[in-house]
Amino acid sequence: MPESEEETVPAGPGAGTSAVEALGTPLVVLTSSPLQRVGAFALACLAGVTHPDELDATSFRQAVGAMTADLVMTTTAAKPTDEGGFWLGASYAYWPNSAINPTARSRQSPAQREELIRRWRAEPADTAGMPGVPCTYCGRAACGWFGKVDIPLGASVAHRNTTAPGHQGTPLCYPCLAALWAFPYAAALFGGRAAVLHSWDDAFLAQVTRAAVVSTRRTALLGWVKGPKPGPYARELAVLVALRGYGRPIRAPLELLVLSNSNKDPSLVSQEMSQPVAEWLRSTARSQNRSTYRVLAATQATPQVPGEAFLAKRAFSRPAAILHAAVGHLLKRITAEVLIPPEALTLAPLVYSYCHEVLTLDEKDVERVRDLARRVAALLSRDDRPGPFRDFIRANTRAGDLHNWFRSKGVDWLVLPRPQDSPPVLLPVRDYRLLFEDERSRAWRRLLVFAVLEALGEAGWQPRGSQEELRELRDLADTVSADDTGEEAA
Ligand SMILES: [Zn+2]
Repeated sequence: MPESEEETVPAGPGAGTSAVEALGTPLVVLTSSPLQRVGAFALACLAGVTHPDELDATSFRQAVGAMTADLVMTTTAAKPTDEGGFWLGASYAYWPNSAINPTARSRQSPAQREELIRRWRAEPADTAGMPGVPCTYCGRAACGWFGKVDIPLGASVAHRNTTAPGHQGTPLCYPCLAALWAFPYAAALFGGRAAVLHSWDDAFLAQVTRAAVVSTRRTALLGWVKGPKPGPYARELAVLVALRGYGRPIRAPLELLVLSNSNKDPSLVSQEMSQPVAEWLRSTARSQNRSTYRVLAATQATPQVPGEAFLAKRAFSRPAAILHAAVGHLLKRITAEVLIPPEALTLAPLVYSYCHEVLTLDEKDVERVRDLARRVAALLSRDDRPGPFRDFIRANTRAGDLHNWFRSKGVDWLVLPRPQDSPPVLLPVRDYRLLFEDERSRAWRRLLVFAVLEALGEAGWQPRGSQEELRELRDLADTVSADDTGEEAA
């Protein structure tokens, strides 16, 4: 495989216009490539400016020079764990077979290593040696052809950045090339994989990239520290923490890319979090929501995965599962002593804001289901035996059973005394459609269970039954809550 520094085409000698100055302004253009964009923001950080637009030839060269200096630090390190060895270790994930880590490295002197690195990262002398083709990313004049050594895996494993024999590679201009070199500063590297967060919201991207660059440079300075093994969904959790620490509205979806350009195991996995989910999670950091957020996060836990980590994972992969897990958790909390868990009341504001903002359930329909839940709660708390409540929870295992339950209880509701001002129909047509015919009927049924628990909690219902009856109810709650997410653990 022709993967060596010879793949790049250095600009030929000769007097001409500088390849960088010839590009005009802005020097670094943001393109449609997430990795190029993240790299451009990382370059801006390295140059001490806030946005890539602000990079001029001087600050751009300063940023490229800083990256080269960081790589030169590795020349005296024999292995990644030695002082200055951070980028040597990182090179396996980002730049396999590059000038920083050639096969013959162990036989080279530090000066020889430095010479190779400087040649690899050198700015083209002028436009004379340029191939006369447009840059793949920005369309401006490319300064050469590039391959896996410079381009981190950015499409999919099917589009590995390996250059086929006889193929010249990908044409890139020098600023886009430098942005790809800078992208690893914005990534968190562990477990042999780099995780990088991208968003089309430039302000958010600028902030998370800045934090990542500071963190990477600190790690590079202090060296690899073998910390505790990251917990499950650590990368998703890091995104959640960054989101909740962000002070402005999120205006675009987020994309978490986890990739490796390594020779042995190249990979790219991309997960997207929608803008409404991101913005809702951010809203949970507001002072009035913070304590409720802790309660909500706890409802997401499994024996294998801590609650907040699973909340982060579900926010990416299955936002609807957050509600299912929360209701499932409440059902599991039912004990002989505490039939209606206090969380049913605590969680209400966040559950309903989540229904509006994330699941985009119509606000009027949510109110309909809450009204229905109050009627159901009035029926269930008619006496203090736990049996009717148990039957309702059991009916929720299957849509057909719940439908039958409503048919039978509708008669009770009609003929027995009702709370004042209640309508005679227990399940009006519109409510029936939401629960059984709507495309999100499962979410509506889960919301109904939540709202019934909430209404019973509000009414202070305290059933009295034999220990056996109450134990039976708890076992049933386990069955009902187990069916709903079908998720694998981390
Ligand atoms: Zn370009």
